[in-house]
Amino acid sequence: MSLIDLQLDNEEIIQKHFSDLCCDDFTYPFLSGGQSNADNALNQLNIDKYATKRNNVYPKDSRGSSYLSPYIRHGLLSLSDVWKAVEKFEYKDRTKFQDELLWQEFSRHLYAIVGKKSRKYLNYKIEKPQSNANIYKNMNCVSTIEEELEKTGYMVNQTRMWYASHNSLRVGNDWNQYEDYMFQHLLDGSRFANRLGWHWVMGSQTGKPYGFSKFQVEKRAPQLCNNCELKYDCPIQEWPQTNISKKLSNDFKVDEEKVFGPKNIRENNSTKPSFIWITGESIGDNDPAMSHYHELPVIFIFDIELLSKLQLSTKRINFLLDCLKEINNKRELQVHITNPDEYLRNKNFASTFAPVPKYKKITERNIPSVEFPALRLADPINFYPTSFSSWRKKIKLNI
Ligand SMILES: Cc1cc2nc3c(=O)[nH]c(=O)nc-3n(C[C@H](O)[C@H](O)[C@H](O)COP(=O)(O)OP(=O)(O)OC[C@H]3O[C@@H](n4cnc5c(N)ncnc54)[C@H](O)[C@@H]3O)c2cc1C
Repeated sequence: MSLIDLQLDNEEIIQKHFSDLCCDDFTYPFLSGGQSNADNALNQLNIDKYATKRNNVYPKDSRGSSYLSPYIRHGLLSLSDVWKAVEKFEYKDRTKFQDELLWQEFSRHLYAIVGKKSRKYLNYKIEKPQSNANIYKNMNCVSTIEEELEKTGYMVNQTRMWYASHNSLRVGNDWNQYEDYMFQHLLDGSRFANRLGWHWVMGSQTGKPYGFSKFQVEKRAPQLCNNCELKYDCPIQEWPQTNISKKLSNDFKVDEEKVFGPKNIRENNSTKPSFIWITGESIGDNDPAMSHYHELPVIFIFDIELLSKLQLSTKRINFLLDCLKEINNKRELQVHITNPDEYLRNKNFASTFAPVPKYKKITERNIPSVEFPALRLADPINFYPTSFSSWRKKIKLNI
């Protein structure tokens, strides 16, 4: 039986349906899901001193982070709404913050074009360093970051960069494996932003790697060094040696409609939809399909085969269940755990386009009766952007 009983509490649901599908024991994440929590977080958003505090790491109360990312990642808050919410703040903080929202949109555009090929190097090939991994054991900075990630489902941007740089450019670990690990635990984990982050750090996007050394830890979280058993024998005293061997010539074709979906509401057949299929990309009240058809029931499907492969943390499932339960309090919702491709076969449904490979694959075989454009901060593009700055110069904002 694939139907999940949303009256049960999250722990019972996870125990019953997700016990073989998760990588950890039941853990609550650092914040709860649901539209009302997302709205509260946006109402209380204060980005005073964001520009100077954004890169702080520890102590936690020195951080400038907004912690909005899980709500943004799952479409509970649109990038345009968040953009508007910070208009009242000082120029320096507002522009820095809005720039980060643009990075988020950039990552979505890039992933829409590159898709699964983002597992490979983008514009530059990076040579793995030859190193002895044993000397990097017991580093307090690295183990503290991992601990925070596993306990809470969050890392600040700065420690994401440290972690990606350390594993790919210094230790020479298989970066895909470590990107997967972050994706499993991050509450905001998305292939678009996570992979772009790794590419940016490794230099595979820009040709300029981001080096991580003791310098950043002493500046952003000095107590990590003070409490480290390797304080006087730090193995990351110097910048890592990096080696970018060659520029790659990637020829990504951009068929705008295929890559970014419909520009307007698209009716693919004359049969009326009997339900709305929502995905993890867009589970907020302002999802275009849900807000258009108030009266139709909603279906969400946990993809059992995908989850079995990904082995996500229970923190992420918890967050999604919170969001789904809140929808269920407002309108008719069914949550299944099964194969979405088979579930949707020969059914008439409406959906909101999601510019990710899985959605595209499922809807190739199961064409929605009515399909809605995704919500965007910037209009779709018709070229492969090799850098953030070149992309930024050409985009048109939807504000
Ligand atoms: C290696 C690496 C992996 C990352 N993985 C993810 C991921 O899986 N999901 C994810 O949403 N972000 C990811 N990021 C981007 C960024 O680190 C997070 O969005 C941010 O730390 C989330 O915390 P916040 O909401 O407090 O951010 P704030 O600093 O408050 O920023 C506000 C919003 O801007 C966006 N944003 C901020 N920085 C970036 C950035 N560098 N790239 C893209 N969007 C940004 C996010 O939507 C964020 O919520 C990654 C960055 C790196 C370097």
